[in-house]
Amino acid sequence: MGELLANTLPGMRDLLPEEIARWQSAEDRARRIFARYGFLEIRTPVIEATELFARSIGAETDIVGKEMYTFRDQSDRSVTLRPEATASVVRAYLQNTMYRGGGVTKLYYIGPMFRHEKKQKGRWRQFYQIGAETLGTDHPAADAEMIETALRFLESMGIKAELLINSVGCADCRPQYMDLLRQELRKHLPALCEDCRRRAETNSLRVFDCKVESCQPYIQKLPFIADHLCGDCAEHFSSMKSCLQEAGIAYEFAPRLVRGLDYYVRTAFEIVSGELGSQNALVGGGRYDGLSEVLGGPRVPGLGFALGLDRLVMLLPEDQSSGWQWKPELFLAYMGEPAFRKAQDIARGLRQRGHACYYDFLAGSLKSQLRLANKLRAEHVLIIGKDELERDRYSIKSLKDSRQWEVTLSELESYLQAQAKGRAV
Ligand code: AMP
Repeated sequence: MGELLANTLPGMRDLLPEEIARWQSAEDRARRIFARYGFLEIRTPVIEATELFARSIGAETDIVGKEMYTFRDQSDRSVTLRPEATASVVRAYLQNTMYRGGGVTKLYYIGPMFRHEKKQKGRWRQFYQIGAETLGTDHPAADAEMIETALRFLESMGIKAELLINSVGCADCRPQYMDLLRQELRKHLPALCEDCRRRAETNSLRVFDCKVESCQPYIQKLPFIADHLCGDCAEHFSSMKSCLQEAGIAYEFAPRLVRGLDYYVRTAFEIVSGELGSQNALVGGGRYDGLSEVLGGPRVPGLGFALGLDRLVMLLPEDQSSGWQWKPELFLAYMGEPAFRKAQDIARGLRQRGHACYYDFLAGSLKSQLRLANKLRAEHVLIIGKDELERDRYSIKSLKDSRQWEVTLSELESYLQAQAKGRAV
């Protein structure tokens, strides 16, 4: 044997069968809840032209500046593994002219994202997001409904979380506020960390993301964008809050919440959970009315959110998955080669008619096969030996109550069907 190449790359991991049940239950629930709100699924490629992300997310962001998996492909084209999916969804919307005929388009996606981030609890370099986007409306009720969708989904998974909201203004009011912010920051430049000194000039809003302790006293005293909104943005924010109130959704106003991506305007929100530790954000979202134009499309307002599936799964109790775990309805135990062939034959027929069956390729003694049946939590065991083959009658044992009786193959099938019907009720 050569060198064992048995390690994932740093920050990457396998999701093994024993934990996948929780992932499936979250994904399945998301599909059901999103459908209730009218979102349709979209699947876009995980790899796109680098320019798509550079232009839409913003060159000054950590994502574009430090975290993207970017390389040249065989055609010497610069390509990037998607660090998030909003840019891809809006690209797909434009490429497929979904805006044709006007109207509102609601889409959702589930899939892996890639960011070369520092490794820590709750952060992976390949992680999964469930996200939703509404394109074609700037109505504040759409913002409130987007938030409601995310919260209802979390609620349905039994997760308690808090909603934080802010407005980050628009192309009309933000530049003036940014000037003010820059002036304030310049007063304290020598005391700020290197990143903040750079951000002060390039994209001052981003200083609110700084976690460096010594910067905090200065950041605390900076003016808030929500106090410098233009009339339209202020009205949009206040209507959005009324819609939330009407929907009975509690929120906290978070004036320092600015989000990491450049394309956000007006509504910005996060849903956080105290149970997650330092990486406490479960959901991040907001409005991006200018994004379509940045990508060369017509003016199409839009908004969306992305929910971190890895973090959601961390919050789900282990036993939530038990109902999802695979288990055979029938385990076929056999003795000898002719019985093995019969077991395969019976299992093939039952599987084709929808029953989950299992037999062991490595079968040893009857005892070891029964041990495996128990381990797999099989509901029934069918015993196929020489005698049974001759009589074409088999003994079946219920592992639930240890009852044992004899069946013909057609009785076996009717019995399994009745059991399956009982479960479906
Ligand atoms: P963002 O796209 O940065 O707004 O992130 C949206 C959500 O995705 C966050 O609230 C997290 O739940 C999740 N997320 C972002 N980055 C990571 C990561 N590196 N590892 C795991 N989850 C992440």
